[in-house]
Amino acid sequence: MQSATLHPALASLQSFSEPPPAGKPNILGTPLAELRTFVEKHGLPGFRAQQIFHGVFRHRHKSFADITNLSKEFREILEQTFDITRPRVDQIEKSSDGTRKYRFLTIDNLAFEAVFIPEVAKGRKTSTLCVSSQTGCAVGCKFCFTAAIKRNRNLAASEIIGQVLAVAEDIGHKEPDAKFTNIVFMGMGEPLLNYEHVVRSVRVLLDEEGMDFSARRITISTSGIVPRIYDLGRDVPVQLAISLNATTDEVRDIIMPINKKWPIHELIQSMRDYPLQNRRRITVEYVLLQGINDSLDDAQRLIHLLEDIPVKINILPLNPHDKTSYLPPSAETTDQFQAELRRHGYHTMVRRTRGDEISAACGQLGETALQNTTML
Ligand code: SF4
Repeated sequence: MQSATLHPALASLQSFSEPPPAGKPNILGTPLAELRTFVEKHGLPGFRAQQIFHGVFRHRHKSFADITNLSKEFREILEQTFDITRPRVDQIEKSSDGTRKYRFLTIDNLAFEAVFIPEVAKGRKTSTLCVSSQTGCAVGCKFCFTAAIKRNRNLAASEIIGQVLAVAEDIGHKEPDAKFTNIVFMGMGEPLLNYEHVVRSVRVLLDEEGMDFSARRITISTSGIVPRIYDLGRDVPVQLAISLNATTDEVRDIIMPINKKWPIHELIQSMRDYPLQNRRRITVEYVLLQGINDSLDDAQRLIHLLEDIPVKINILPLNPHDKTSYLPPSAETTDQFQAELRRHGYHTMVRRTRGDEISAACGQLGETALQNTTML
């Protein structure tokens, strides 16, 4: 999973501390193949690993003692070898539109958030869970609240899966096959700077013996960590979203300093090279900032940049917060920007702000993480 030699620019960004050693590996972040090796080492047939997976992910047991189709002796071995704890939910905020924001605490008392967004599309109920991959973000996009959080570390795969399990439990997914329609890695952090744990968590989510999500329903969003986009394309068949937000290097260098490492033309090339299965599209996220990237010239440059790439474009008027000096565009500017893209045949959507009254909208995550968690 890890590249043999890291791109030098990537190595300099990987200085975040790793998840703290929990003493024991957590079963929630352990892919089935590894569990099978463990089981066989104990002289047991491989299907025991599947039984553990069923117990933990389908029946959502929180203790090995409850997986009663395993022998008592083997359950004790599991207990001694693995941790099974989830990150603690210490706050849930509910918005009038049904959005729920969850604040979790890690064992080293760092806060991170996940957001549940219920929707009705074409008369059908859908739901999206937006998960975090880090407790802050060092990428430093100038329009994003999370960038202001300095206590940053990678979340372990178990802490990512823990978000899915905890939110499912809170909203009443009692049936083993009840699932969110979509899981998006668009919460706090840059997923591709926590590559190993993100890919491990995706493998657990996709495993049909466990969470059994479809790869079509999992999207990883990146600010443009180009070498990892290539790795991702090889490692797991998930959907890709690119947070582009500008059409010139001059502007992108300012609003997304990561662009100085991987400029727009390299990012666009990685999109062209990303392996897409039939009829899939890459999602392009474009946060509109008043007077910065919202002109018709920007729209035309965007059309030119994305020519011949299968994309859908999500236009997001900035969700304002007190950590950015940028402002959202007017509704009229947003409409004109979208109309120009549509005129050229692009599938676009203006993302309706969800959960902004609880600071759960895109680019707003992390407010509760800045509060004094030691008081809780
Ligand atoms: S937009 Fe994403 S990558 Fe940029 S600072 Fe925020 S969390 Fe990090």
